[in-house]
Amino acid sequence: MFLILSTHWLSTGEIKRITGALVYTNRVIYRGKVARYRYEDAVVFKGQIFPLRKVWRGRKLYVRADQLAPLLLQMGGNWFWDSENRRFFKGKPTIRLLMGRSKGGYTITVTAQNGKFSLTKAEDSLVVKVRGLYGKFWKVVGDGNYVSFIRVIQKRRNTEFVIHLGPQAGTYSTSIRGDTLHIFINKLKPRKAKETVIVIDPGHGGRDAGAIGNGYKEKNINLAVALKVAQILKRKGYKVILTRSKDRYVSLYARARIANRSGAHLFVSIHCNASKDKNARGMETYFLSESRTSAERAVAILENSALKYDLGFSGAINEPVENILGDLLQNLLLEQSYELALSIHRTALNMALTEDRGVKQAGFYVLKWVMMPSVLVELGFITNRKEVKRLSSEIYQRKLAKAIAKGIEVYIEKQKRR
Ligand SMILES: [Zn+2]
Repeated sequence: MFLILSTHWLSTGEIKRITGALVYTNRVIYRGKVARYRYEDAVVFKGQIFPLRKVWRGRKLYVRADQLAPLLLQMGGNWFWDSENRRFFKGKPTIRLLMGRSKGGYTITVTAQNGKFSLTKAEDSLVVKVRGLYGKFWKVVGDGNYVSFIRVIQKRRNTEFVIHLGPQAGTYSTSIRGDTLHIFINKLKPRKAKETVIVIDPGHGGRDAGAIGNGYKEKNINLAVALKVAQILKRKGYKVILTRSKDRYVSLYARARIANRSGAHLFVSIHCNASKDKNARGMETYFLSESRTSAERAVAILENSALKYDLGFSGAINEPVENILGDLLQNLLLEQSYELALSIHRTALNMALTEDRGVKQAGFYVLKWVMMPSVLVELGFITNRKEVKRLSSEIYQRKLAKAIAKGIEVYIEKQKRR
């Protein structure tokens, strides 16, 4: 394996010379405080996880300086990493960030002395740039509904907040008064669609390959089948929305937001399973049950998945059910979700496609992200050599897609008759 070190890497020697921090393979020592590696590529300091990749090159240990800076900040220093000029600099943190629920929505307040703000709006995020000032944070976790998280980037003499909107975020407005910028996010009002709108969600994508087995990547099979399902449903006259239509990374929040904003009637997520048992095979259809969960738990899930995708983490989310919960988190409309799951599952089995592993309920912690009946189909096992061959064949994919579309249609017709 040939390794190219990007310009964000610095040797531990250089780091010691510039910042005085001591970086070892198992810990970081700074100002008498210790942060320990508890994961391959992340350290823990005062219960907070900081990604910190390390690599040996010859006899020198290198770490990512841009990842080290936020850790040093928390350990009591004032070091910032200038990602544009690729150097450490010392600054005085002067930005304050406040967030919280307010009437009819959510408010984010950024205060910066003599702050010069600029805003860039995008579909699922909002970027706030503050000139010449620094904040003592690297990543801020939101409430999960209005704001999923805020990424903080130091660039040259500016600080950038990339605010990733949550699944319940609607329109937003901004105002600047003196040193303070207010962002008000309205609660999302899903519009009522006249025709039946179906969201098809191909699991994973982009840097998130999903399960890998026998040389196949889950994301590709998911997408291939999802596209076929969408095509069939469109031909039948339904309005279909895909959360992704190519090999692209889409966060769980963004998927839920796409669905919620469209006023869709149902949500079907398509995945492939994986197991340590190489012989495990067959289809499972999940609906997710309502189970009370604390906000901390929610944050943990988000953080786990973010770590997993951002750092190439493995192992944090391993068990099948947890995997699925990491894949899709929702809880509303339990009964309808159950019926939809049953309908899809039965149709697929009636078409004699595969082994029946049942309609299952994932009953752990679940979030209320997707506000409509929703299910998750595990088409089969990527870890089963025979089954994955089938799963990746055009003919079998078309069969599966037909069965899923049929199951959806049967469910919709049933609902209409009520
Ligand atoms: Zn998956």
